[in-house]
Amino acid sequence: MTYIPADTRYDTMPYRRCGKSGLKLPAVSLGLWHNFGGDTPHELKRDMCRTAFDHGITHFDLANNYGPPAGSAEEAFGEILATDFNGYRDELIISSKAGYMMWPGPYGEMGSRKYLISSCDQSLKRMGLDYVDIFYSHRFDPDTPLEETMGALDHIVRSGRALYVGISSYNSERTREAVAILNDLGTPCVIHQPSYNMLNRWVERDGLKDTLDDLGVGSIAFTPLAQGLLTKKYLGGIPEGSRATKDSSLDAGVITDEMIAALKGLNGIAEARGQTLAQMAIAWVLRDNGITTALIGASKSSQIVDCAGAAQNLEFSATELAEIDKFASD
Ligand code: NDP
Repeated sequence: MTYIPADTRYDTMPYRRCGKSGLKLPAVSLGLWHNFGGDTPHELKRDMCRTAFDHGITHFDLANNYGPPAGSAEEAFGEILATDFNGYRDELIISSKAGYMMWPGPYGEMGSRKYLISSCDQSLKRMGLDYVDIFYSHRFDPDTPLEETMGALDHIVRSGRALYVGISSYNSERTREAVAILNDLGTPCVIHQPSYNMLNRWVERDGLKDTLDDLGVGSIAFTPLAQGLLTKKYLGGIPEGSRATKDSSLDAGVITDEMIAALKGLNGIAEARGQTLAQMAIAWVLRDNGITTALIGASKSSQIVDCAGAAQNLEFSATELAEIDKFASD
C-alpha cells in the first residue's frame, strides 16, 4: 500500500540547531548500522523507516560499510527512498561516511582523497541519490595528511556530492586541527559524530564536548543506549534475539550480575521520572544542549516510538544526575 506520512509528524519532535550552522536536526536520529543488512526482511526495514519519519525523525544515518554485506544498508535505504519516501527527499537529512574497510587493496579504507571521493560516489549510486546531506570522514587516518582528508571533504561539497561535512570519532586535538583546515577551505565542519552514553563518557574526559561547544560545531552521539544495554532489555538476563546473542559488537560478557544491578538502579530513576530506561538514557545524552541529537539504532519499530518519546523530557535535576552517577560511569 502506498505510504502516506503521518500528518502529525512534526507535532512533538524538537529540532535542534547543529552547532552554529543553519541545519536543524531532530533530537532523535535513526542509524542503519544494524538490522538494515541483507539478513533483515525488507518489510521490517521499511516499517522502521516509516515509523521513524511518522514520529518526526527526519535524519537517517548510514555509512558505506553498513550491512552485512557492506553496502547493503545503503541499497535497502535507496529502495525505501525510491518507493516509500519518494517525494519527501527535501524533508530528509541523509548522511553517509567513509573510513572503514570497503573494498580490497590500498584504496578501500582510511582517509585518502582517492578513497573518500570514490566511496562517496559508490554510496550515492547505492542510494540512488544525487547528493547526501552530510558526508563524514568516519575515522582519523594517522598516515594521511589531515589537509588531504579535509581537502577531499571540501571537494565533495564543492562538487555537489554533499551539502555539509562532518568527522567521526576524532579526538579533541585532531578535531581542532580538522575544523581549522576546513574553515580555511571555506567548507565548515558542521557536525562531529562520537560515541557517548552514561557508560561511555570519553567525550567528557577527552575535552571533545567542550571543544565542540567552543568551536560551534554540532554533534550526534552514537550508541546512546550502549547498544541496548541502557534499556529494560537486559534487566532479567540476556533475552533471545537481542544484540548480545547475535552480534559480536555487543559482548555478552559485559552483562554481569553487577551490571544488571546497576541497570536496575538506573531503571528505578527512569521510572520515577515517568520515562523508560531507554528514554532516560537518550535524554541524559541531550541534557545540556552540548549534544545536538542522539543517534539510536533499532531492531523493531516499537523501539523507535519509545526512543522518540525521550524528547518530551530532557530536563534533569542535580539530584537525579548525581543518582545516575552512582550507578553509571565509564
Ligand atoms: P544504540 O545504542 O541506540 O543501540 C541500539 C539497540 O538498542 C537496538 O538494536 C536494540 O537492540 C536496542 N534498543 C533500541 N531502542 C530500544 C528500546 N526502546 N527498548 C529496548 N531496546 C532498544 O545504538 P547502535 O549501537 O545501534 O548505533 C546507532 C547508530 O550509531 C548506528 O546505526 C550508526 O548509524 C551509528 N554508529 C556510528 C559509529 C561510528 O563510528 N560513527 C559506530 C557505531 C554506530 P536489539 O537489537 O537487541 O533489540
